[in-house]
Amino acid sequence: RAKDSGRNAIQLFRTSMQAAASERLRLENELRQALLRGEFELFFQPQVDARSGQVIGAEALLRWQHPTLGAQSPALFIQVLEDSGLILPVGGWVLSEACRACEQLIAEQLVDGDDFSLCVNISPQQFRQSNFVEQVAASLRDSGLPRAMLKLEITEGIVIHNLDDTIAKMHRLKKLGVSFAMDDFGTGYSSLTYLKRLPVDVLKIDQSFVRDATHDPNDAEIVRAIVAMARSLGLSMIAEGVEQQEQLDFLQQQGCHLYQGYLYSRPLPLAEFRALLVHAKQRPQ
Ligand code: C2E
Ligand code: MG
Ligand code: MG
Ligand code: MG
Repeated sequence: RAKDSGRNAIQLFRTSMQAAASERLRLENELRQALLRGEFELFFQPQVDARSGQVIGAEALLRWQHPTLGAQSPALFIQVLEDSGLILPVGGWVLSEACRACEQLIAEQLVDGDDFSLCVNISPQQFRQSNFVEQVAASLRDSGLPRAMLKLEITEGIVIHNLDDTIAKMHRLKKLGVSFAMDDFGTGYSSLTYLKRLPVDVLKIDQSFVRDATHDPNDAEIVRAIVAMARSLGLSMIAEGVEQQEQLDFLQQQGCHLYQGYLYSRPLPLAEFRALLVHAKQRPQ
């Protein structure tokens, strides 16, 4: 009967909700353990100037070296880190570890402060911590990384709480010497009003537009619009998720020459990223 099947549906819904909740809790506990056991690792994805072929920077990307499953992408667990507040200690670790690794590459003369930047993803929650500016300053001081090498990648979600506070904090960080990239640009609350007021240096063109620009006229138009916007605001831009030569050709035609993506390299463990830099240095330009 209808009444019974309705009740059964609710029961089934409750059961699956409980299963999802306990799965979430299990993952949260595993992540907490992972932090304690040192199972997090940073991968580095090169950023390239297509005109010169030079590596001009790298984005640090979090990985969880799961004991049995291997390297796990944050796409699978970043939401749990956010919801549980674990993003704060993990994000703090990412920041100091990325600065330390990059300073090591400088010491080995593989990169140089004048033409290389280190990009670190910062979650909105992490940015909103009252002592965030001090945390960044401490990571820079402890690692000895030249301040101008650090670029913080933020998303448009950062402004939803309080625009004035966000701007003030960004200015304090810029005073330290660091710069800002707006990640996943075009996918969030991209208001021109925000963009005009935020002291952002670089727009990262989201990979969804890059992926489809060569076969979807709407996405091609969005890329053109982003490039035009970046130009008129005096910002530089970088495309992410470039996988095919065709996509790079299109971006360059539009005037976007900086990119990262599988076409050049996947994100690499530090040792492999170092090897790539050694190799790039040996190759005549
Ligand atoms: P994101 O910051 O937009 O990073 C770019 C993502 O695109 C990375 O995924 C990278 O591996 C992937 N990617 C790069 N090139 C290509 C390509 O050519 N094709 C395709 N299909 N993908 C490409 P990843 O490493 O899985 O990270 C996913 C997201 O997780 C990041 O997106 C970022 O939002 C977040 N994330 C990663 N590391 C951190 C971190 O340390 N802190 C915080 N708060 N978030 C992080
Ligand atoms: Mg990013
Ligand atoms: Mg992105
Ligand atoms: Mg993304």
